[in-house]
Amino acid sequence: MTRDPRYDILFEPVRIGPVTARNRFYQVPHCTGMGWTQPEALARLRGIKAEGGWAVVATEETEIHPTADCEPFHEGRLWDDRDVPAMALMADAVHEHGALAAIEIMHHGGSVANWGTRLAPMAPSHRPIIYNYPVQARAMDKQDIRDLRKWHRDAAIRSKKAGFDIVYVYATHDLSIAQQFLQRRRNDRIDEYGGSLENRARLLRELIEDTKEAVGDRCAVAVRFAADELIGEAGLTYDGESRDVIEMLAELPDLWDINISNWPNDSQTSRFAKEGFQEEYTSFVKQLTSKPVVGVGRFTSPDTMVSQVRRGVLDFIGAARPSIADPFLPKKIEEGRIDEIRECIGCNICVSSDYTSTNLRCTQNPTMGEEWRRGWHPEIIPPRKSEGSVLVVGAGPAGLEAALSAARRGYEVHLAEAGSELGGRVSRESRLPGLSEWARVRDWRVTQMARMENVSIYRDSALEAEHVLEFGARHVAIATGSAWRRDGIGRDSGYPVPGFDGPAVFTPDDLMSGRVPDEGPVIIWDDDHYYMGGILAELCRAAGLEVTLVTPAAIVSAWTANTLESLPIAKRIARLGIAVVPYTSVAGYSGGKVQLVSGLTGAETHLPAASLVTVTARLPADELHSDLDLVRDRWESAGIASITRIGDCWAPSTIQQAVYTGHKWARGLDEPPEGLIPRELPMIESGRVKVAL
Ligand code: ADP
Ligand code: SF4
Repeated sequence: MTRDPRYDILFEPVRIGPVTARNRFYQVPHCTGMGWTQPEALARLRGIKAEGGWAVVATEETEIHPTADCEPFHEGRLWDDRDVPAMALMADAVHEHGALAAIEIMHHGGSVANWGTRLAPMAPSHRPIIYNYPVQARAMDKQDIRDLRKWHRDAAIRSKKAGFDIVYVYATHDLSIAQQFLQRRRNDRIDEYGGSLENRARLLRELIEDTKEAVGDRCAVAVRFAADELIGEAGLTYDGESRDVIEMLAELPDLWDINISNWPNDSQTSRFAKEGFQEEYTSFVKQLTSKPVVGVGRFTSPDTMVSQVRRGVLDFIGAARPSIADPFLPKKIEEGRIDEIRECIGCNICVSSDYTSTNLRCTQNPTMGEEWRRGWHPEIIPPRKSEGSVLVVGAGPAGLEAALSAARRGYEVHLAEAGSELGGRVSRESRLPGLSEWARVRDWRVTQMARMENVSIYRDSALEAEHVLEFGARHVAIATGSAWRRDGIGRDSGYPVPGFDGPAVFTPDDLMSGRVPDEGPVIIWDDDHYYMGGILAELCRAAGLEVTLVTPAAIVSAWTANTLESLPIAKRIARLGIAVVPYTSVAGYSGGKVQLVSGLTGAETHLPAASLVTVTARLPADELHSDLDLVRDRWESAGIASITRIGDCWAPSTIQQAVYTGHKWARGLDEPPEGLIPRELPMIESGRVKVAL
C-alpha cells in the first residue's frame, strides 16, 4: 500500500535547533508507572515507539535531584552519574530505530513530598505541597536557586552523556518549579524572582539559558509550557500571562511543547473532551515564535493532523495516549494503512498505571508494558505451532481480541456470538453518555478480522456445551462475559440486601438493554466506585428524573481519581442537579423507600425511591464452562486440547483486562504454561546496571 499524498506533509523533516526530526510525529513525555524502577522494560517500550515511526520519543518526567523525589510515583531519575547507564538504555533503543531521544528533566519544587528521600521540598514561597500530603515546601533562598540551576545544568550534561538529543526545561502541569515561580498564587517573593512577570519568569529564562549553554551545541533545548491552567485570572492564561511569557522568551528555546495545565486538564478523557480539544488554548503560540511548536489533543485521525499543520496550529503532532494505543501509528499512515490504526479510546486506564505505580497498560493495546517482560510486540505475534482450529465463544472485548490474535498467529478461527451485535459490554457501554469512542475497541478488531480469510464469525449463535463438543476445535476460549448482580452483594454487603428482588430494582445491564426507570425519584446505589454509577445517574437525570446517588465512599466514582476524572465527574453530577449522599450504605428497599445507614454515625434514615439502580458487583456468566467441565471426559474424543475462560467470564474486571487476557490466551496457545513472571531486578552499582530475570 502507498501513502495518500494528502498526508505527505506529516512526513516532512523538521529542524529542532542542532537536530532534525525525520517527520512530524512526536511522542511527548508520558509516564509509564515504571520509571527508574525498570530501565530495560522502559527502553524496550520506547524503542518500539521509535520502530513505529515516531520521529521523537521522549522519557517521562525525570527527577534531577533527591529534593525532587516523586515516590511513590515511579518517574525517570537522573540524580547523579550512577543513573546515566539506565537512561542510556532508552536513548540507545530509540536511536536504533532512527528517532531522536528526548528527556524531560525537571525539578518538582513544591509539588511532591520527597517522601522517599525525606528531604524538605523547596518552592518559590512557603506553601503546602501541591499533592495532598501533610507536608510544606520551604521558600527557597538565593543559594537554593543557585543550587537548583546547578542541578539542572548537571542533569542536562548527564542527559547528553546518556545520548539524548533533546533536553527539556519543564514548566507545566503544576509539577515543575519553573512553572511554580511563574504562578502568582504560588510566588510572593519580593526579590528579583518575584513580583513582575519578568521577575517570575527569570528562573525559566535562566534554566533555558543554562541548558543551552551546557548542551546546546549538540542537543536541542525544548520548553514544555502551560498555555492555560483553566482557572481563569487566578492562573496563567492563553490570552494573559502565558502569552506574555512566550512573547518574552519566543526565540530562546529550540522548540515549544505546549499544553494546558494541570495533568487532568491536559489528558482529559473522551467522556469530557474530543480530539483536538486543546487548540483554542494553544493555537496562538505559533504566531509568536519561529521555533517549531508541538502540541497534543489525542490525535488519531491523519486528516485532523494535516489540518493542524496546514492551518499553522502546530508543527509537530504530539501524542502520548495515541502512541500508547498504537506505537505504529506513524508507520501505518506512512504506508497507507489507515484502517489499521488502533485508535485510543480516551479511557485513561494508561494514566491509572502511573497513579498506582505499576507497568503501563492500555485498553486498546494489550502489549503495552509487556514488551520486555513478556517479549510482546504490538505488530508481531509468533506463528502457530500446531494445526487445528480455534473456537472463541462470546464476542466482547476478550473474545474479539482472542479471536483476532489467534487469527494473526495463523489459526483457523471461529467466533460465535449469542447476540446479533458484536462487542459485548463495549457495545453496550459505548451507548452511555460520553462513551461513544469506546466502540473503537470493537470496531478496530472487527475491521481487522473482516480482512482475514481464516476467521469465521457467527452472530445469533448462543452455544451450548453440545455445540462446542460437536465443533471439535482444538482450543476453545470461553469469553461469555459477566452480568451485574441484582442481589446487592458487593463490597459493602456480603449478603443479599432485602427488597432488591422487587420489580422497581434495576441493574446496569437493565439500563443498557433499554429497561430503564420511568419514574423518579431514582436512587443510584454505587458500591462499584468506577464510572458506572455516576454515568447511570447522568443517564437517568437526562431522562428528566430526580436522581440521588448513594455511595459508601467519600466522593462519587472514587476510583476515577486514577483516570483523572473524579473532579470532572463530580462537577458534572453537581451541575446536573444530582444529589450525592456519601459515606452511606443502602441496607434495604421496601414500601417505595430505601433504607440508608450512615457509615459515619450508624444512623438509619429513609429516602423515597420509585426506582432503585443497584451498581454493586458482577458475576461471571460461566454456565457454558461449567457444563463443559461436567463432560471433561469427552473433550479428548471431540478433539479438544484446551478449554479456557478469559475476560469477565474468568474474573470480572476492566475492559482493558478483558482485552489483555484475550491476547494472552492467544499468545499462549500450544506454548508451555507461563512460569515465573519475568521481572527486572535492577541493581545499581558503581554506575553499572545489572539486570536479572
Ligand atoms: P468480556 O468483557 O469478557 O469480553 P462481555 O460481557 O463484553 O465479556 O462479552 C461477552 C459476550 O459473550 C457477549 O456479547 C455475550 O452475548 C456473549 N455470549 C455469552 N454467552 C454466550 C454463548 N453461550 N454463546 C455465544 N456467545 C455468548
Ligand atoms: Fe487511550 Fe485508554 Fe489506551 Fe490510554 S488506556 S492510550 S486512554 S485507549
